[in-house]
Amino acid sequence: MSDTTRPSALGSTGASELFQLLRDGRPRTRAELAAMTGLARSTVGLRLDALSALGLVGPFADAVSTGGRPPSRVAMIPSARVVLGADFGAGHLTTALTDLMGEVLLSRHVELAIADGPEAVLTTMVAEADALLADLGRSRDDLIGVGIGLPGPVQFSTGRPVNPPIMPGWDGFDVPGWVRRHLDVPVLVDNDVNIMALGERSHAFTGTDHFLFVKVATGIGSGIISSGRLQRGAQGIAGDIGHVQIPRGAGIPCHCGNVGCLEAVASGPAIAASLRRTGRDVPGGKEVIDLVRAGDLDAIMAVRQAGRDLGEVLTACVNLINPSVIAIGGSMAQAGEHLIAGVREVVYSRSMPLATEHLSIVQSRAGDRAAIIGASMLAIHHALSPAAIDELAAAV
Ligand SMILES: [Zn+2]
Repeated sequence: MSDTTRPSALGSTGASELFQLLRDGRPRTRAELAAMTGLARSTVGLRLDALSALGLVGPFADAVSTGGRPPSRVAMIPSARVVLGADFGAGHLTTALTDLMGEVLLSRHVELAIADGPEAVLTTMVAEADALLADLGRSRDDLIGVGIGLPGPVQFSTGRPVNPPIMPGWDGFDVPGWVRRHLDVPVLVDNDVNIMALGERSHAFTGTDHFLFVKVATGIGSGIISSGRLQRGAQGIAGDIGHVQIPRGAGIPCHCGNVGCLEAVASGPAIAASLRRTGRDVPGGKEVIDLVRAGDLDAIMAVRQAGRDLGEVLTACVNLINPSVIAIGGSMAQAGEHLIAGVREVVYSRSMPLATEHLSIVQSRAGDRAAIIGASMLAIHHALSPAAIDELAAAV
């Protein structure tokens, strides 16, 4: 029988759809679920039985017990399974196991060189995953999905990197295929800024449907959430604002081969270079942050100017996609209000009044956890989708 005609185990019971209602973690009575779905209570009962058999749903222990009566409410069990989130940078890997609500249970951090190539680096990731599972007393059987963020462009539909500039050997590599041979669960791969946008929104802006996340670090990029959905664009490079030309960049070469790019003027290394031109000994972005924190006026002014440069490009973004929140993250956001003040100065004065009336420009609240939360959310979103729950049930 073909896949299109074979009724899935849950296709006949509809449990995967019922489960979508319980994914918010709130406990509900059978009567409430019947009212929400329009189904008979007996039907709701059958579907809950199927979900309990998977261990995904169970009786909710009410805070005030009424004695020997059976529990009246059911809820998703967030600890039923775990997902692995992995965030790769040029020189590091952070991994975490989260529960089904995206709560980080345990995380690990190792230094590595992404330039060592996919097999070496992904082997480390699998070893880190096993170490996390062991530390939590869980096994690979408990793992329900893997989400990976990579520091370069990724074709999301295949999980393959596309000409990533700092990742030699990764171009076109089948990341999900390789990982699945070791951890046999769905594997989702996206670029690091997109997963940071997902993580930031899920951490602090769940109700914000028009949201822009901007990463300012060694490079500059953004992740766009419009009408509640992450926008990757036709080739997966939507939001790549680092190579937009800005007036103050005139004549400054960028590593992309063009001149005058935002990234060549306002990234961490670019700010450090501008301070070095005044005779200061500032090796990189980290030292810029240190100087800002120490109250160094030159460094503060350089960071504020970088914020204004960023504001030039973000003004166009605001007029184009009309976000209600812009969150600024990445390592340079640790310069705090100085960077953001520069952004606000330009965006609020240059954008259309209607576009800025309800616009907040804020520092990332998830901070250095944005990527790992987002990688996990990517995996959870896939692993708990109706199709994936059907597949799980079919395998029981
Ligand atoms: Zn460039």
